[in-house]
Amino acid sequence: MRGEIAVYESERVWRDVDDYFVETLVGEDEALVGARESGRGSSMPQAEVAPNQGRLLALLCGMVGARRVLEFGTLAGYSTVWLARAVGAEGRVTSLELEARNADIARGNLEKAGVAEWVDVVVGPAAESAWRLVEEGVEPYDFVFIDADKPSNPEYLKASLALTRVGSVIVIDNVVRNGAVVDDGSSDERVRGVRAVLDDIARDGRLEATALQTVGAKGWDGFAIVRRVR
Ligand code: SAM
Repeated sequence: MRGEIAVYESERVWRDVDDYFVETLVGEDEALVGARESGRGSSMPQAEVAPNQGRLLALLCGMVGARRVLEFGTLAGYSTVWLARAVGAEGRVTSLELEARNADIARGNLEKAGVAEWVDVVVGPAAESAWRLVEEGVEPYDFVFIDADKPSNPEYLKASLALTRVGSVIVIDNVVRNGAVVDDGSSDERVRGVRAVLDDIARDGRLEATALQTVGAKGWDGFAIVRRVR
């Protein structure tokens, strides 16, 4: 009981600190608030990144001078708006989403955010869509955000490596899962997907990476950040 109260209180403080950071440093305009709130009508309510995480993605894009961004998992387009604003009208964002309904909601939000012209939301299983991009021989992406179904993470990494260049950055969301990631016997397909992709990254001599735990409005989770060096 004491432990449960402590966890509850910690989570409340994490949320308060996130609110403070968002109010102080990040901010959201009407379009971002709308995108976040309209996610409630999608297939995975409240699964979008937190505002300070959206800003992190945008900062990383800015730091590497990203012009071309690939996203796995659009939902209502909240992270997509952050990425699209980061690359600007000279850039291009391709976001891959399974559910047509989510994609429709996202397109509306991208329109309201004024970024729809340089974003393509591609409907279908993300692995198929990504391999189609490989077949089409599209230009390499500078930045990839992997945030769709977790069991497919290894496949998404493989496709991302066919779609990037030396210097490209790949960010993978939800790699902590309340600590479950350390359970090497987990039967949870999402945990297995995360562990498998981290193993693949560790074995791949083309990649340098780290993973960071985060606490906040989205609970206890984290990102893997990967740079292609070869
Ligand atoms: N990146 C979004 C954001 O932060 O605003 C959140 C994405 S949400 C965590 C995951 C999304 O991946 C959902 O919209 C879900 O429908 C989509 N998804 C699940 N399985 C998929 C698949 N096989 N191919 C493409 N998208 C998939």
